[in-house]
Amino acid sequence: MTDSVASLLTGRIIKGVGGNYTVATEDGFFVCQARGLFRKEGISPIVGDFVEVSDVDFAKATGYLHKILPRKNQLIRPKAANVDQVILVCAIVPPISLEVVDGFLINCENQSVDVILCINKTDLDKNGGYQMVACTYEMAGYEVLTVSAHAAVGLDDLRHVMKSKTSILAGPSGVGKSSILNALYPQYDLAVGGLSEKIQRGKHTTRHTVLLEVENGTFVVDSPGFTSFSIEHIPKDELQFCYPEFRPYLDDCYYVDCIHVTEHDCAVKAQIGLTIDAKRYERYTKYIAGGKQ
Ligand code: GDP
Ligand code: ZN
Repeated sequence: MTDSVASLLTGRIIKGVGGNYTVATEDGFFVCQARGLFRKEGISPIVGDFVEVSDVDFAKATGYLHKILPRKNQLIRPKAANVDQVILVCAIVPPISLEVVDGFLINCENQSVDVILCINKTDLDKNGGYQMVACTYEMAGYEVLTVSAHAAVGLDDLRHVMKSKTSILAGPSGVGKSSILNALYPQYDLAVGGLSEKIQRGKHTTRHTVLLEVENGTFVVDSPGFTSFSIEHIPKDELQFCYPEFRPYLDDCYYVDCIHVTEHDCAVKAQIGLTIDAKRYERYTKYIAGGKQ
């Protein structure tokens, strides 16, 4: 290589540890530090950011983060930018908790990120009881995929919805997130049943959120901390907006500030058992009863 210092490169941050950001570019990986610039603007680089890298040293594979390109969105937990969709995984075993599923969906809606429900381990349910769960959420407006990582069922559909996008697999531990990723992208060899330390993590024992480019242009956010959600931070009067099946009726209630629980002439309640699933509505009222004022 003649000139080891070149000008700007564009790429994507796939990992950030202790102020060192690994940026994937067409010319390979570069470990970069941020210049003071961002701090002044109050922006810190995060995994998933598209960036410009300056002062590139090809020999050392280093550079500086020069600019963060505008973000499509930014998830709070896990901290990641430009995520196209959450694949919410649940499974036949351990049994699906619809409260937990609702909680995840509410959080995705609240963070304005698309979500697809993926029911795994269908091989363990010969009677097809999971179809009821699928129906409930399809009725609420969600795309639902039923898969078995072990029996390799439904994986092509999943691969298809993930293609050319940045996805994050969320869901309680043990539902098969790593197994699904392994079945989809065997070349990554992610550890099943616990820590997946093999990929792009170096020797650090602390687990960090990393971005894997599993196919050209197809990214997966791999995060240790995305197994549970708390919805306490969502005010009661905002929870209704996190239910896609409520939305067509929200303007038709008698009271403008209706939260669809005890009020009369409520257009949402009028749909219970029709377009709105009665049990899901019941769980909504429980959230309201227990949630933040
Ligand atoms: P994670 O914690 O969500 O990443 O879950 P893992 O991928 O570690 O899987 C948890 C357990 O479920 C492991 O013992 C897997 O072998 C098992 N498992 C994963 N997918 C399937 C499946 O499709 N069918 C069955 N029967 N077991 C599965
Ligand atoms: Zn109402």
